[in-house]
Amino acid sequence: MAFEYAPAPESRAIVDIKASYGLFIDGEFVDGHGSSFKTINPATEETLAEVAEADAADVDRAVRAARRAFRGWSRMPGKERAKYLFRIARIIQERGRELAVLESIDNGKPIKESRDVDVPQVAANFFYFAGWADKLEYAGLGPDPQPHGVAGQVIPWNFPLLMLAWKVAPALACGNTVVLKPAETTPLTALLFAEICQQADLPPGVVNIVTGAGATGHAVVSHPDVDKVAFTGSTEVGKAIARAVAGSEKKVTLELGGKAANIVFDDAPIDQAVEGIVSGIFFNQGHVCCAGSRLLVQESVAEEVLGRLKRRMSTLRIGDPLDKNTDIGAINSAEQLGRIRELAEIGDSEGAERWSPSCDLPSSGFWFPPTVFTGVTQAHRIAREEIFGPVLSVLTFRTPSEAVEKANNTPYGLSAGVWTDKGSRILHMASHLRAGVVWANTFNKFDPASPFGGYKESGYGREGGRQGLASYLKGEI
Ligand code: NAP
Ligand code: MG
Repeated sequence: MAFEYAPAPESRAIVDIKASYGLFIDGEFVDGHGSSFKTINPATEETLAEVAEADAADVDRAVRAARRAFRGWSRMPGKERAKYLFRIARIIQERGRELAVLESIDNGKPIKESRDVDVPQVAANFFYFAGWADKLEYAGLGPDPQPHGVAGQVIPWNFPLLMLAWKVAPALACGNTVVLKPAETTPLTALLFAEICQQADLPPGVVNIVTGAGATGHAVVSHPDVDKVAFTGSTEVGKAIARAVAGSEKKVTLELGGKAANIVFDDAPIDQAVEGIVSGIFFNQGHVCCAGSRLLVQESVAEEVLGRLKRRMSTLRIGDPLDKNTDIGAINSAEQLGRIRELAEIGDSEGAERWSPSCDLPSSGFWFPPTVFTGVTQAHRIAREEIFGPVLSVLTFRTPSEAVEKANNTPYGLSAGVWTDKGSRILHMASHLRAGVVWANTFNKFDPASPFGGYKESGYGREGGRQGLASYLKGEI
């Protein structure tokens, strides 16, 4: 039984959402040539604002502004660039509540996550890369590593501001300038970030934000004067981008999808593992590329783990993202909700058994209850395809080698989790799992100093840490 909690809504008075937004080019907000689109609050379906849709001519204007700014920005001593990045980091902290509330309104994620995870991580990334800006010659990339030039960056909707930080902070620290396209459903915090760039007196053209949909993203990555492409999103679009830039001089990093195994051995601390399973798949409504969406549990403890997991799921609170008690917010869009429903129905028809705690879903907005499927086999589509929602597929194993085999039996390789009491088993598993990150007795832990990225269809290149600098500098690590 969930405890009854009185509503504890965070006030939205702190955010000032304008009726319409232009593009941020050369340090100013300007009108686009193209049409506009609406961004909505997915928890209520209320229209929040009209946002300009950048066409190819707008993108060209942004790239030209970035090219002009590159000369001064790349030649500026690193310690001077660092001052701007430190300033941005501090403003992000000062305006943290405003950013968190706006992120929750535009994206649907619970305020406790945007407030306690997204925004602090955003500031941490700017602080971290600010620290590198005057130390690039010590990054192991040669005595005088040089930036690429103009970076074209395209990001998804699941962590709008955090993905921006992962891309903009290292690019700027290394002396590149940026043209960034946020996702169509979550443009508002990127536009508030543009205001923060103005507040920090960042030289015009160093950061440009062009809003729009897939066609705008395509115009950014395929612009002939973009030197470096950084993309986070689906494997399908990642492949299209790789094709679009093939044969050009452009450097590319792709952070794509995942279908991570979260592996629980019989000697694991079960209650902690259950918390890790819950945060692994229900954090951010499961809209997480490295989500622990496949639970591999050792057969001898499967029943116990599932029993405790279901009990824990019954206490999750789903609803108003701005309520400070909410654990699970809204699904980001009607389209994403449709995809989750479709794959869950495929799970039913393939013979897996679906379970969700009883919960009242709000009458407007996009919602999906936390869901677990048991009786899943490796051939099931819900075990193979990324659902990108609050849906967990459970499989069992008997031996460590069977766990490794099943965990690696996926086209992806972004992350994995291991729960066991034995250090030697953790090391054994970590060296056999084909995943960019392996968490041990924890899940979804991030640090700007730690590189993140995938194997196989999860993409190539790394973000974060010294390895993340290598993506924005000429020279190999
Ligand atoms: P998506 O459809 O691939 O979109 C990502 C971004 O690319 C959006 O800004 C999108 O614009 C834009 N885009 C769409 N078509 C394009 C094209 N032809 N050329 C250039 N840009 C284009 O992915 P999503 O649905 O937003 O995000 C979910 C996916 O991202 C999941 O598969 C998830 O695993 C992955 N993801 C990976 C990571 C990671 O670090 N590996 C992190 C987060 C998410 P629109 O907004 O208009 O669609
Ligand atoms: Mg929105």
